[in-house]
Amino acid sequence: MTSKKLSTSQGANLASPSTSELRALFNGRVIAPEDAEYDQARALFYGGFDRRPSAIIRVADAVDVARVISLARETELELAIRSGGHSIAGHSVSDGGLVLDLSDMRALEIDLEQRTAWAETGLTAGEYATAADAHDLVTGFGDTGSVGIGGLTLGGGVGYLVRKYGLTIDSLLAADIVTADGQLHRVDEDNEPDLFWAIRGGGGNFGMATRFQFRLHELGPMYGGMLILPATPDVIAGFIAEADAAPDELSTIANVMTAPPMPFLPKELYGKLIVMAMLVYAGAPEAGESVIAPFRALATPIADMVHPMRYPEVYPPEPEGYHPVAAARTMFVDSIDRSVAEMMLEYLQASTGSMAVAQLRVLGGAMVRVPVDATAFAHRNSRIMVNLATLYERPEEKATHESWVDNATAAVQQSDHGTYVNFLGDEGEERIRAAYPGGTWDRLRAIKAQYDPTNLFRLNQNIPPKKKRAGKK
Ligand SMILES: Cc1cc2nc3c(=O)[nH]c(=O)nc-3n(C[C@H](O)[C@H](O)[C@H](O)COP(=O)(O)OP(=O)(O)OC[C@H]3O[C@@H](n4cnc5c(N)ncnc54)[C@H](O)[C@@H]3O)c2cc1C
Repeated sequence: MTSKKLSTSQGANLASPSTSELRALFNGRVIAPEDAEYDQARALFYGGFDRRPSAIIRVADAVDVARVISLARETELELAIRSGGHSIAGHSVSDGGLVLDLSDMRALEIDLEQRTAWAETGLTAGEYATAADAHDLVTGFGDTGSVGIGGLTLGGGVGYLVRKYGLTIDSLLAADIVTADGQLHRVDEDNEPDLFWAIRGGGGNFGMATRFQFRLHELGPMYGGMLILPATPDVIAGFIAEADAAPDELSTIANVMTAPPMPFLPKELYGKLIVMAMLVYAGAPEAGESVIAPFRALATPIADMVHPMRYPEVYPPEPEGYHPVAAARTMFVDSIDRSVAEMMLEYLQASTGSMAVAQLRVLGGAMVRVPVDATAFAHRNSRIMVNLATLYERPEEKATHESWVDNATAAVQQSDHGTYVNFLGDEGEERIRAAYPGGTWDRLRAIKAQYDPTNLFRLNQNIPPKKKRAGKK
């Protein structure tokens, strides 16, 4: 059996339940507006979303998940889904509706013999990495430890192992999904392969993922860390060329950005542009050292913290209560030569935000070796991902910074008009279509019509269900 119906209502009146009725309905916790932890529980990673849900339900298990889905159906309240709360568009909190919060579902079962792991979707990338590393094993997620494996995996997952092991979804073997009708489905390559295809890139449109099964890869001592270089056009273009030519073991993220006041930086650089790069060599430290040598030779490093390390060190501790507000855009480009780098530097210099950044990720490697139509992530041939952002504090400055990021994006844009869904903000349908070009969009809409015909899961980068043709049952 690959799908089963979960019992949901327990005889409760779901039309307009009180907080105490809600508490009686769930095995997990219900956080209501009158509760002390409500404000913290409704906050997302990004600031600027002041939304007040009617209840936040910290589900305990798949039965609770099915009950929240029934509740949303019966009450017609908007349903937000939250794993790690890092939605850039603010989709994981609703104003007036329900939040299905997975953060109490964090179990991880590692099968050492099979080298696989079943992970509940309330886990963060950092928690998963630490637990797997205890066995010299790894699955690749993104660049930040506090990001939830729920949202990141469903959109694709581009991180520090992208060139060595591909996207996160390339290590996804199976998933447990509760669909809009309350059914629990075990999906994989053989069981409901269409749904399995759709959740590998199509986001939270098709149902609630309660657990993922991942492949684990062997990784013991490795080499990596932060390298800070001067932000010149030659260094940036040189970095991109080296990252492109490097073996698959090396994945990099170069942040060309305003230097923050960090103790390892000379004070005179605070507020000036630098290249703050993370390099991750997923292999033996000695080999890593020689692969990274050309990056060190691009210029005299301002700081060099690249060293033999264990994988979880890519996720340093994060400051508590940090909720930045950003104007941000994502895109893919084909090349960054000296003149593109020069233009980026000019735009970053002109930003009046508190910190401006162009994040450059050279792709390729294992990600490209999976056929483009094998999953709903359709950008395997894209060469470089660029995320442009400026952070700011005063809400009244929003228009200025949005306009800066629009202009910078238009200037940097080349011939690849695709976009990665997980870095999209609330940018409208055209941009969602850019995430799912060509036949991907039509196939996703047809699968959406099959599993969520009323669009219950709509607070997301939404893929509307395909309409039935008139006269067709
Ligand atoms: C600081 C930062 C760094 C990032 N770095 C990377 C990176 O390196 N690589 C990368 O690929 N992405 C990265 N991202 C983007 C990230 O992948 C997305 O924001 C992702 O949606 C976050 O997942 P989450 O579970 O934390 O988000 P949430 O805000 O909890 O969820 C976002 C959306 O995902 C869907 N969703 C989440 N969990 C489930 C579930 N269990 N079932 C069904 N739907 C679900 C829902 O539609 C929800 O609205 C980063 C984001 C931030 C803010």
